[in-house]
Amino acid sequence: MAQVTKSDAEWRAQLSDEEYYVTRQAGTERPFSHPGFPKEAGHFACICCGAPLFEQDAKFESHCGWPSFSAPGGEIDEHHDTTHGMVRTEVRCHNCDAHLGHVFPDGPPPTGLRYCINGVAIEFVPAQEG
Ligand SMILES: [Zn+2]
Repeated sequence: MAQVTKSDAEWRAQLSDEEYYVTRQAGTERPFSHPGFPKEAGHFACICCGAPLFEQDAKFESHCGWPSFSAPGGEIDEHHDTTHGMVRTEVRCHNCDAHLGHVFPDGPPPTGLRYCINGVAIEFVPAQEG
């Protein structure tokens, strides 16, 4: 179960409209709306609770329009998702149950997985010096 639980009103107060729509209502941002993530060392954290979710090293350019990772770098939950007439695997933050995106079996080796994540659901955290 999620470690962080907040009411809808609390999430609404904390998040922007788009962040709330994507993470709490399982929405999807428009493709190519977050192309500018830094390439320096660091990791990507949940926009809702700050839990580390993906490592910079696992990020790759999939040209699909959303940030893509070949493996999770933190605790995530995967759920069977049959909405929109498709069978997909939904990815959620284990810590707060935020919707992040979906995982597809067409990624690069060695995992062969593509974690297709909404840019608005994650924030970049630079690596600490030293
Ligand atoms: Zn979270």
